Amino acid sequence: QGVQQLSVQETPKVKSKNIDVLAEYKKVKRKKAANFVVIGHVDAGKSTLMGRLLFDLKAVDERTMDKYRKEAERIGKGSFAFAWVLDQGTEERERGVTIDIATNKFETDKTNFTILDAPGHRDFVPNMIAGASQADFAVLVIDASTGNFESGLKGQTKEHALLVRSIGVQRIIVAVNKMDAVDWSQGRFEEISQQMSAFLTSAGFQSKNVTFVPCSGLEGGNILEKPSNPKASWYAGPTLVEELDQSEPSTYALDKPLRMTINDVFRGSMQNPLSVSGRIEAGNVQVGEHVVVMPSGERAQIRSLEVDDEPQDWAVAGQNVVINLTDIDPIHLKTGDVLCSGVSPILNVREFKAKVLAFDHITPMNIEVHKGRLHVPGRIGQLIGLLDKSTGTILKKKPKIVQPGSVVRVVVQLDQPVPLEAPSRVILRANGETVAAGLLE
Ligand code: GDP
Repeated sequence: QGVQQLSVQETPKVKSKNIDVLAEYKKVKRKKAANFVVIGHVDAGKSTLMGRLLFDLKAVDERTMDKYRKEAERIGKGSFAFAWVLDQGTEERERGVTIDIATNKFETDKTNFTILDAPGHRDFVPNMIAGASQADFAVLVIDASTGNFESGLKGQTKEHALLVRSIGVQRIIVAVNKMDAVDWSQGRFEEISQQMSAFLTSAGFQSKNVTFVPCSGLEGGNILEKPSNPKASWYAGPTLVEELDQSEPSTYALDKPLRMTINDVFRGSMQNPLSVSGRIEAGNVQVGEHVVVMPSGERAQIRSLEVDDEPQDWAVAGQNVVINLTDIDPIHLKTGDVLCSGVSPILNVREFKAKVLAFDHITPMNIEVHKGRLHVPGRIGQLIGLLDKSTGTILKKKPKIVQPGSVVRVVVQLDQPVPLEAPSRVILRANGETVAAGLLE
């Protein structure tokens, strides 16, 4: 009975403290926060490498690690133990693949990091997109072992790199992994760096934004500490962690109207009948404030909020938050919706223009638009122009069809009104394949 009576509407109203959030924010010097996505071919060692990173930085304790080790040995997959730090579902473990986007946090002295894990399996591209659309930078994991690098290049390595670039990710750290398997060969590292560097610059990454780090997730070499393997003595560059620490998070628009795309909706607990989580993309928010949820346009009030699991009075762009809402019926809230400033909400649109990289032949066709966790059916209505990849000038107006690899400006029509505005990262998919990815204009 008691539980049923506690409906959202009966929750007492919340008083705003009317905090000048920007002034408060500027008072304290705090660690920077950076989100990154992990990309690369299946089996490149992404999960193992990230598991090792979390372990070395003490984001996972020795006891849990021991448990994973034992369980892995039991089913005869000992080397998978590190990967399991990230893959927490048993089903995933037994199949030995990462299924869903796992979010993991760790910190160094300088930075609070969130790993938006991206599985390498082809079917899981939508998860990778959800991750990539929130990433400040990408870590591209490459298998250095002989032959595998080359087959990876034909596989997802290229597709993933192109995808993150086309949605506006500028910086990429290339982890040349499994160096133990090639005896930490300097020649192999340099060969891979040269080939990847040529490819990544042709894909539109500026060379100053691309760095290469040799490492071994399995051995733990050159992740937190310099490689202990004597064969690696030629290497004098940064460790992976040092390189990660160099990352500058994107500059967030703290003084813009609030925008937060909802990643998850939680219902039901007594203290927190209705909460949403996500990353604040722009603006700031405080307890007591009234916000608008789009596309429904319903208003809600912020009852409480948490930043990195700590209760706070306010939060700003760039932070990952859980917001407890009151004065709204949960039916108006779903994953992919946008929490906005009550004064200046995002508009619902039925059509937009975008500059996209084509992964397939593009012509007027039915597609599904993905933005983070939001996906909506629609249609590419018109190709406005074929663009030069590096300069963005128009090469051909109104092409009827463009080749894979082209950069093209398109008009996209949506089957229903959707809250979207520039510059958003969007992915267009058809029949379960990514056909194009880019930025809304
Ligand atoms: P993912 O599919 O990219 O996440 O790759 P996993 O982390 O699941 O690793 C795939 C396979 O490569 C597993 O058998 C790992 O044990 C192995 N592996 C991962 N990292 C390394 C490494 O640094 N060296 C070697 N030799 N093998 C590794």
